[in-house]
Amino acid sequence: MSGPLLKVENLTKHYGVGAGFLKKKIPVVRAVEDVSFSVEPGETLCIVGESGCGKSTVARLLMRLVEPTAGRVLIDGTDIAGLTKGAMRSWRRRMQMVFQDPYSSLNPRLTAGQIITEPVENFERLNRNQRQALAAELLGKVGMSPEMMHRLPSELSGGQRQRLGIARALALKPALIIADEAVSALDVSVQAQILNLLMDLQQQMGIAYIFISHDLSVVEHIGHRVAVMYLGRIVELAPRAALFAKPVHPYTEALIASAPVPDPTRVRHETPLDGEVPSPLNPPSGCAFHPRCPLAMERCRIEMPPLVPLADGRIVACHVRAPMSEQPAQPQGALLTA
Ligand code: SF4
Repeated sequence: MSGPLLKVENLTKHYGVGAGFLKKKIPVVRAVEDVSFSVEPGETLCIVGESGCGKSTVARLLMRLVEPTAGRVLIDGTDIAGLTKGAMRSWRRRMQMVFQDPYSSLNPRLTAGQIITEPVENFERLNRNQRQALAAELLGKVGMSPEMMHRLPSELSGGQRQRLGIARALALKPALIIADEAVSALDVSVQAQILNLLMDLQQQMGIAYIFISHDLSVVEHIGHRVAVMYLGRIVELAPRAALFAKPVHPYTEALIASAPVPDPTRVRHETPLDGEVPSPLNPPSGCAFHPRCPLAMERCRIEMPPLVPLADGRIVACHVRAPMSEQPAQPQGALLTA
């Protein structure tokens, strides 16, 4: 197959807040602004950032659970934003989602077997034997025994419920799974099991992941490339190893410095992340990170930095660390492939 599996171009989502009073302008939340990236088959792209940076809105836009204000989402070259509901249904088979809270995302009245075969039964009729065989196969794929198919979600542990959520996502043999904080609610040891399961499934089935997380230790474990978002925009996108070895954007640097370090021999960077993320209702002018940035200068308050490609293959939006004048000009969409 030529071209990326998923291509996102200039994706933007604004929400109006409340009603305009006496024809006053309705305040707008700029949840996602001009986000572009692509995902290759079998690749894991992680999207990280603090709460409210827009990463979960990106997931919802990709699944068309919300409609974009602007931009395109292309799967295998087809723009899904323009598809009717009927046409979108078949494209949904290509993309599935795993949610943060496995309990609330599973129907408590259905058995595990019913939950994981339901997506297939939305497309084709299965008899009892086919249903049981499919349930056993999918449970096996996620490391659960076939007997579990008769259990209700309330009779499973947190880790088993998340395995069930993954089995359900696998039922339609998707090319891409969007995992939104998929291990955040789990204990650390269970987190590791689920991450290893996701990586094994990727090896066996060639699935691509968009893995959304606020937890850098998880991202470091699973990602091939990492996109760092701040206030609705990507500020750095880089291969995982390069990003963690040498973060370039001051926000990436501060995020990594603020994260707990499980390895005592690893050197921490000395850039703590102070202050809160500003409101997307009223984002700062220029570079949105400037109120928190130790390197901010006058230009940062006025002018938004563009995403600029660096020699090692990453892209960064920062007037100081990635000045435009030193880099070759390229359209943004061309910069964001693996
Ligand atoms: Fe900091 Fe300026 Fe770079 Fe923004 S553009 S990250 S404020 S140095």
